[in-house]
Amino acid sequence: MRKLTESKIVLASHNKGKLREIAELLVPYGIEVVSAGDLGLEEPEETESTFAGNARIKAHFAAKSSGLPALSDDSGIQVDGLDGDPGVYTADWAETPNGRDFPMAMTKVWTLLEERNAPEPRTARFCATLCLAWPDGHDEIFEGKVEGRVTWPMRGDLGFGFDPMFVPDGETETFGQMDPAKKHAMSHRADAFAKLKACLDG
Ligand code: IMP
Repeated sequence: MRKLTESKIVLASHNKGKLREIAELLVPYGIEVVSAGDLGLEEPEETESTFAGNARIKAHFAAKSSGLPALSDDSGIQVDGLDGDPGVYTADWAETPNGRDFPMAMTKVWTLLEERNAPEPRTARFCATLCLAWPDGHDEIFEGKVEGRVTWPMRGDLGFGFDPMFVPDGETETFGQMDPAKKHAMSHRADAFAKLKACLDG
């Protein structure tokens, strides 16, 4: 596995929630982070059908455009009662002509589960794939997940995206109600990040 020896990286995301969480996870390593938005980089189209495929597209695009190592995150929620949907298309389910509407997307998930009479608990997991790519084309991939269930009605306005309808295993609060430090300790992103640490240490 290639180690990250550079002291500055680009976070290849335009999603404010993800940027905040990844920047916080990187604080202990003293790595300077700059976002793709700060550098005026475009968002490449995510044309792959896997988290790893789309993470690679974003990280390689940012690394080549900036000349710096780039870290991307492709993530989403898989709902078992919907055969794993929305999965890789989680952000797409929230698209509207006026921007992303997550309450609408969560309502769609719950309505479809109701229509299918899906059994309780309505198990689901958040998945995150991190890709660290270098301008020379090398990359490393790290995959994480957190198991849980979706619940209704939505609860909590901490966090972002689908957090208000997801309760991780062993908890009663949704990610939207949970202290962010507690979420960061158990999330799919933290799980993937724990694997990425091997690239950052020593
Ligand atoms: P993408 O990786 O940019 O394709 O978007 C992934 C989507 O998954 C985000 O827009 C969020 O809606 C959702 N998502 C990913 N991680 C989280 C999380 O930690 N909490 C809530 N929603 C998330």
